[in-house]
Amino acid sequence: MTAREDAEALARGIPAVPYVAGGWLSARGLETFDVIDPVTERALASVAEADGAAVALAVNAARAALGDGAWGRLDGPSRGLLLGRLADLLEARREDFACLESLEVGKPGAEPRMIDLPQAVQTFRHFAGWADKLAGRAIPTPGYRGRPTLSYTIREPVGVVAAITPWNSPTMIGAWKIAPALAAGCAVVLKPPEDAPLTSLLLAELCHEAGFPPGAFSVLPGRGITTGSLLIDHPGVDKISFTGSPETGRIVAIAAAKGFRRTTLELGGKSPQIVFADADLDAAAEGVATGIFANQGEVCAAGSRILVDRKVHDEMVARLVARAETVVVGDPFDAGTTMGALINARQLARVRHYIQAGCHEGARLLTGGGCPPRSGYFVQPTLFAGASNTMIIAREEIFGPVGTIIAFDSADEAVALANASDYALAATLWTSDLSRAHTVARAVRAGAVAVNGWSPLDPRLPWGGSKLSGHGRELGWPGIEANTEEKTVTIVL
Ligand code: ADP
Repeated sequence: MTAREDAEALARGIPAVPYVAGGWLSARGLETFDVIDPVTERALASVAEADGAAVALAVNAARAALGDGAWGRLDGPSRGLLLGRLADLLEARREDFACLESLEVGKPGAEPRMIDLPQAVQTFRHFAGWADKLAGRAIPTPGYRGRPTLSYTIREPVGVVAAITPWNSPTMIGAWKIAPALAAGCAVVLKPPEDAPLTSLLLAELCHEAGFPPGAFSVLPGRGITTGSLLIDHPGVDKISFTGSPETGRIVAIAAAKGFRRTTLELGGKSPQIVFADADLDAAAEGVATGIFANQGEVCAAGSRILVDRKVHDEMVARLVARAETVVVGDPFDAGTTMGALINARQLARVRHYIQAGCHEGARLLTGGGCPPRSGYFVQPTLFAGASNTMIIAREEIFGPVGTIIAFDSADEAVALANASDYALAATLWTSDLSRAHTVARAVRAGAVAVNGWSPLDPRLPWGGSKLSGHGRELGWPGIEANTEEKTVTIVL
C-alpha cells in the first residue's frame, strides 16, 4: 500500500463517534457529517455528530468526575502520571498522528512530524510535571482584632473546561488546551473541528488506554453551529478555551458572558515580520518565507505583513520571490511536495477573494496568485509588493499563503506600521543590532515576538494575544493559572 492508502485505512479505522464518560456512543440516531480530503475532495470518513443529549452526557460526566468523583479524588502526582502516560502513548503513535493530520488537514507530513507532534508530546510532558506542583502561597497579614492570622491560598481546578479547536493544527492546539486543564484537575470536553476531527478521535483512544477516569476527558465531534453551539451554551461548563476566528470567538465570548464563565480566546492575527537593513538577509528570507508559507499559511501566527527596510527592499523582494518559487505545491503524500492544500472549498474561495482584492487595490502581484488545474483546494504561494498597510490584504487575516510586502524608512515607522493593526498576536524581527532588537521587541504590540527566528512555539512559553487576537494565555504557568481558581484561607490564631 502507498503511504496515502495507509493513512486512508487508518482514517477509516477510527471510531467516528463521540467519546463520552469513558466510552464510545452508538452512532444510532445521530446525524453524520463527512470529513472531506482537501486533496482528492472525497470523503475520508463519516462521523457521528454529538447532539444535545451527547453534549449533556459529556458535561454531566465531566461534572461528576470532579470533586468527590474519580478524577477529583486523584492527587497531583497521580494526574501527572496519567498525563505522562498519555505523552508516551502519543509519542509511540506519532507517525500515525502525523499521517492522519497530513491527510485530513492537507499539509505535508514533514510539518506534523517536525512541529505538531513533537510539540504536542512535549506539551503533555511539560504539564505532567506541573500537576504535582500547584502549591498555594502563604501571605503575611497584619492580624484580626489584635490576634495574629495565618493566611494562605489553595489552587483549585476551575471545573469543566470546554475546549474548542481549529482545523489547522488540531493535535498541537488540542494539546495546548487539554494538557494544562487536566494538569490543573479540570475535566475537559473537547469539540474538535468538523473539517479535521480524526486526530482528536484517535487521541480519545489514547486517553482511554492511558486510564483516565470516565468523564475526565470527552471528545464531541460535530459542527460548530450544532455541537459547538450546544457546548458553549451548556450551564455545566465553567470555562471555554477557544481557538478560531474572531467572528466565532465573539459568539463564544457572548455565550460565556451570559453565565459569567471564564474564557481563553486565541483568534488569529495579521502578524508583522520586520526586516531591518542590518539583518542577515539569507536567514531573514528563509525565516520570513517559512513564517508565511508554512502549513499553507493556515497558521494563527502567520507573518502575513512583511515590513522591509527600503534600503534592502528590492533585494529582499528578489530573495522572497526566488524562495516562493522553490515551493512545490501538491499532494502532501507525494515525495517533494512542500506545500499542500487548503482545508476546504470555502477557504480556497476566501484566499482567492483576497488575492483579487490585492490586485484590485493596486498592490503588485510578484508571484503566485493562481491555482493548479487539478482536484483539491490548492493555491500557489503568493506575494504582493507595493502595498500599503491600509489595504485589505494588509488588514484582514487571509489564512492562506499570501504575504504582503510593505517598505519602511525608519525603525519608528516600522513599529508604527506593525502596531497599526486590529490584531496583536505575534511578530518576528530580523536585525543584527542587539539594542534595536530589544527596543523594537518592547515597542511592538504582540503576545509573542521572535528575533532572528520564527514563531516561539514551546510549552514553557505563554501563548496568546490581545485586541482582535483575543485574550488570555495558554501554556507555561499562565496555562495553569487559566485553569485554576486561587482560594484564600485566613485562620485567626
Ligand atoms: P473556521 O470558520 O475557519 O472554521 P471557526 O472559528 O468558525 O473557524 O472554527 C473554529 C472552531 O469553532 C471549530 O471547532 C468550529 O466547529 C467551532 N465553531 C464554529 N462556530 C461555532 C459556534 N457558533 N459555537 C461554538 N463553536 C463553533
